[in-house]
Amino acid sequence: MEVFNLKYDKVEKLELKPFKLEKGIQNSVKQRLIHPFLKSFYCFLTFIILVGCAKNDEAIDILNSFVAEDYVEFEMGNIPIILSVPHGGDLKPVVIANRTCNNAVSVMDEFTIEQARAIMEEFAKRGQKPYLIINKMHRSKMDANRNREDASCGDKNAHAVWSLFHSQIQNSIVSIKTKFDKGLFIDLHGHGNPKQRVELGYLLYEDELALPDETLNSPALLKASSIQHLAKNNASGSLHTDLLKGEKAFGSLLSQAGFLAVPSNKDPIPLVSDNYFSGGYNTANYSSYKGGTIDGIQVECNRTGLRDTKSNRQTFAMAFVNAVTTFLKAHYFDEVPVKN
Ligand SMILES: [Zn+2]
Repeated sequence: MEVFNLKYDKVEKLELKPFKLEKGIQNSVKQRLIHPFLKSFYCFLTFIILVGCAKNDEAIDILNSFVAEDYVEFEMGNIPIILSVPHGGDLKPVVIANRTCNNAVSVMDEFTIEQARAIMEEFAKRGQKPYLIINKMHRSKMDANRNREDASCGDKNAHAVWSLFHSQIQNSIVSIKTKFDKGLFIDLHGHGNPKQRVELGYLLYEDELALPDETLNSPALLKASSIQHLAKNNASGSLHTDLLKGEKAFGSLLSQAGFLAVPSNKDPIPLVSDNYFSGGYNTANYSSYKGGTIDGIQVECNRTGLRDTKSNRQTFAMAFVNAVTTFLKAHYFDEVPVKN
């Protein structure tokens, strides 16, 4: 965005210059006839010269004026839900080199920012507002779902954006703990797998989700789960497996609302060949996997019929808000608490 602002500034300066050159040639009729032509010519000439010079000047200006806040959007919430969008950004500041370290993945999750906004609008109809953190920088420049080094590949400006994104999530967690004691962190993504269903990541691999229920409910597997606090403390008396694939599991509620999801009661176990996403850095760091009272789910949205059109995003937003509300009311709170 800064790049466009700078270009706009340069063009404005260019337009001022020709008027200075025109002074002194305004007397004769002949000169007055020539004047419009000269004015246009000088404008054009100056424009060409300055645009040619603009590239280097821009790079210097951007180096001096990089502002991390331009790349992270944050909204304070009033309910115990955090919604983070690490891969939806499309801004590619020239000052940051493309990431190449440690097999960097650069594919963005298209329309996930739009999807998050549709979800926020749906919550707003109920007077509710999740905490929202959006990374607007393209993943080729900074990956907000990786550790700091892999995220920024050593670039100090990318590093600054990463730090801001993550500090906003950490601030949201503190705020939710203070106001509500417990809550739910949702890391919103978009996957490109062929099976058109929502993939919910609880930090459990497909072979772990395939284990017998008694093993999934054992301390060893609970310890690996991003919803382990909820599994040990819930209002419904539900077991870990109930929360993953029972009737009131988040995936089952989404499926009942018309959006197939895995794991869920209808689709409890992804196949090894599915390339299922079990959850990444953010889910591991901001869920009860790391301790505490806030659980986390990585929500990987399919594209077709969900995030591909505005109307599908709105339909999914409605289903998502209904499902998450039912999930919270079944297992966390009698009613979703609202506090500013
Ligand atoms: Zn992603």
